[in-house]
Amino acid sequence: MRNQAVSLIQSDRSETWQEILSDLITDPQELLQILRLDAQSSPYSLDALTQFPLKAPRPFVERIEKGNWQDPLLRQIWPCESEETHTEGFVADPLHEEEFNPVPGLLHKYQGRVLLTAAPHCAIHCRYCFRRHFDYQANSPSRVQWEKAFAYIANDSSIEEVILSGGDPLAISDKQFHWLLQQLANIKHLTTVRIHTRLPIVIPQRITPELVRCLSETRLRLVMVVHCNHRQELDSTVYRAFSALSDVGVTLLNQAVVLKDVNDNSEALIDLNKALFQHNVLPYYLHMPDQVAGTEHFYVTDQHATELIKTLHASLPGYLVPRLVRENPGERGKTRIA
Ligand SMILES: *Cc1c(COP(=O)(O)O)cnc(C)c1O
Ligand code: SF4
Repeated sequence: MRNQAVSLIQSDRSETWQEILSDLITDPQELLQILRLDAQSSPYSLDALTQFPLKAPRPFVERIEKGNWQDPLLRQIWPCESEETHTEGFVADPLHEEEFNPVPGLLHKYQGRVLLTAAPHCAIHCRYCFRRHFDYQANSPSRVQWEKAFAYIANDSSIEEVILSGGDPLAISDKQFHWLLQQLANIKHLTTVRIHTRLPIVIPQRITPELVRCLSETRLRLVMVVHCNHRQELDSTVYRAFSALSDVGVTLLNQAVVLKDVNDNSEALIDLNKALFQHNVLPYYLHMPDQVAGTEHFYVTDQHATELIKTLHASLPGYLVPRLVRENPGERGKTRIA
C-alpha cells in the first residue's frame, strides 16, 4: 500500500537525462531537507562521504518515502556511520579483478565473454557497491585504449559476447554509444552485446528515442541487465523505458543484490520479481553482497539467503526465481549458492 502512495506523488519530469545527471543530489543536508529527515537520528559519516561521495538522481529520490529512515531506497544511498566499521575479511578488492585486466578497461575472466568498462562513472552511488574502491579514472578508456580492447576481442574468436559495464555504460552519450556498438558489430565472431546498467531504473529518461533506434538497428543480439533491488524503485517512467526497449527486441533481465534491511525478506523479493515480470523483465541473478570494506552493514549470511530462495521457489513459478550467486576470485564463472 505504501508503494502505491509513493507512486501517486510521483511527478513526470520533462528534463533530459543529461540535465538530471548534471543536477544530482550530492549534499546530504539537501537530501535530508527533501526527505524531511533530521540528521541527528542517523548521522552521516564524513569519512564515508570522502571515500565514496553521495550521488543520487532526483527521479530516484522522489521514490523515497518522506520522513522514513527505514526506507529501502534511502538505505541504498545514505553514507551512514556503519561504513566506518572495519571487519576482518572485508577488503577493497575482494575479487582481485586487476589480475584479469589484459588491457585497460577490459576484464577477461570467463570463457566466451569479456567485460568492458564503458564509462568511468555512475549516475548513483550505491553504498554496497563492490566497485566503490575501483580506480575508474585508470580504467576509463580513451579512443586508443578502445582500439586495443577491440583488437583483443577481434583476435580471440572464442569471445562471442561483450558485456558493457562500468561505472554505468549508459552514462556515455548516445553518439559514443552508437560508435561503440558499431565497432563491436564489425567484429564478425561477436553475436551478443549485453549491457549491465542501473540507469533505466534511476534515470529512466536515459532511454531516449535515439538510443532505442541505435539498439534496434544493430545486427547484434542485445541483452540489457537492469539493476533493481526493490519494487519501490519502479514507477511508470521506468515501465515506459522497459516497454521502449522490449518493443525493439532487447531481452530484459534483472540482477539484484540481497541487502540487509533493504530486500532480505521473501515478500520484498516476490513483489519485485512479479512487478518486473509484468513489464517484460525476467530475474537473472540475486547476488550475495561482496565482502567490500565499508559495506558490512548490508551483509546477509548464506544461510539466510538460501532460506529466502527456498521460500521464493515455494511461492513463484521457476522462471521468476533468480539464481543466487556469489563471485569467487579464481572461479570460471559465478558460483551458485542455493
Ligand atoms: C559476471 C561477469 C561476467 C558475466 O558472467 P555471466 O555468468 O555470463 O553473467 C563476465 N565477466 C566478468 C568479469 C564478470 O564479473
Ligand atoms: S550503479 Fe552499479 S556500479 Fe554504480 S555504484 Fe551502483 S552498484 Fe556500483
